[in-house]
Amino acid sequence: MECFDCVIVGTGPAGLGAAFALTDSRPGLSVLMIEKEKVSTGGLRNDCKMNFSYPIGFPRDVWEKDEAERYLELLIDRLKPDIMEKYNLDVYRNRAEKIGAQLLYIRQAHLGTDGGIRLIRALTQELREREVAISLEEKVISVDGVRKVLTTDRREIGYRNLVVAPGRGGFSFLQDLMNHLGISFTDNSIDVGIRVETKEERYPVVRDYYDPKFLFPESVRTFCTNSGSAHVVQEKYQTSDGVPYYSINGHAYSETSTRNSLVNFAILRSVTLTEPLASGQRFAEMLGIQAMLIGGGHPIMQRVGDFRLGKRSTREHFSDDLYDFEPTLPSCTPGDISLAMPSKFLRSIWKSLKLLDTVVPGILHPSTVMYYPEIKLYANKPRFIDAHFQASPGIYLIGDGAGTSRGITGAWASGMRAAEGILART
Ligand SMILES: Cc1cc2nc3c(=O)[nH]c(=O)nc-3n(C[C@H](O)[C@H](O)[C@H](O)COP(=O)(O)OP(=O)(O)OC[C@H]3O[C@@H](n4cnc5c(N)ncnc54)[C@H](O)[C@@H]3O)c2cc1C
Repeated sequence: MECFDCVIVGTGPAGLGAAFALTDSRPGLSVLMIEKEKVSTGGLRNDCKMNFSYPIGFPRDVWEKDEAERYLELLIDRLKPDIMEKYNLDVYRNRAEKIGAQLLYIRQAHLGTDGGIRLIRALTQELREREVAISLEEKVISVDGVRKVLTTDRREIGYRNLVVAPGRGGFSFLQDLMNHLGISFTDNSIDVGIRVETKEERYPVVRDYYDPKFLFPESVRTFCTNSGSAHVVQEKYQTSDGVPYYSINGHAYSETSTRNSLVNFAILRSVTLTEPLASGQRFAEMLGIQAMLIGGGHPIMQRVGDFRLGKRSTREHFSDDLYDFEPTLPSCTPGDISLAMPSKFLRSIWKSLKLLDTVVPGILHPSTVMYYPEIKLYANKPRFIDAHFQASPGIYLIGDGAGTSRGITGAWASGMRAAEGILART
């Protein structure tokens, strides 16, 4: 059986951050990265807009500002991102402040889905040149923390240190692992909302600020804005009982791709659940299934014009001349999101959209599409035994799946932080 100084599960930004930091400092270390997909990495390949300002992507419960900024500077040194200019910020900021909202100033770079894939290729190539072994299409099944052996769908592998970075898609895998290894965790917060899609001319702020982060009362925020060649997508998830459901997302191609002049962004409300229902995962599953029920097995889409009139949308409403663009995810079912979305989320989000329409007039045009559900589970919060995300001796849990990040840069930083812990012990 082969044995490595460090095995990294997942080749997303968290895993990459760990691999680079380990091999930067200790070139002779034997490192293996295992990835269950054909193409290396998860989230980096979707839109790849990177935020280089705290606290975007850095959950405050595990990150102090100074610490996050130290890692961000190291990441900037490595990736040399092309930080995008912003214009007219004061106009939008002043308008937002007058009505009790806020516009955050964030340093951003945008590669697009195609640019993200090129970056992944370059990064994995560099790691291979450093003699990091990368095994694709191999899935980690379980970990024996006593023997320090992990089992994949192909073999058994020994490790001295294990970094587990399976992303949001690995949420259940991580929960099973933590249960098996006796690592306690909570999973009690959740972000639920909709994705808005409209013509760029109705949300022109994106020409000044690629991914504007607005904060509204009641823990509502805009998130993950895409424009230029922007598309709404659906991601398939499974409940713990194997029932499929979808969550909406969005991405864009780089500026070199054909423009469709549409914009999409998420507007989400965060809620922390308390007793007796404390599992964000279970709650998300129930919401996902409820949306599938109302949408006949698909997510739901509704025109703002119909929503305002208190009517469901129908297929005809997506071809009328009043409704003047085709949705980019037409497989969704035209319907009524208020039948599927709990009012705690819907009321705050609708209130926030009205505020947003005051800051950027036009977003609530009747043809604007609202897609539901968009659910973000960041909430596997393991109990760590040190500041480097070590959850059990020699086992580090990082990235979005472990609640140590909420975006590409935070995930990468959590990998570097875990690597520093490993290097200090090795
Ligand atoms: C559609 C979409 C668009 C996004 N756009 C942005 C954006 O523009 N900007 C931004 O900052 N963030 C964005 N995000 C979020 C971002 O992708 C994540 O925050 C980030 O990728 C988290 O990094 P990670 O390394 O923790 O997980 P991931 O990037 O998800 O990587 C985890 C990897 O682990 C692998 N894996 C999981 N389980 C196993 C297993 N058992 N065995 C082997 N391999 C396994 C997965 O296949 C995956 O490749 C987006 C996410 C999505 C889904």
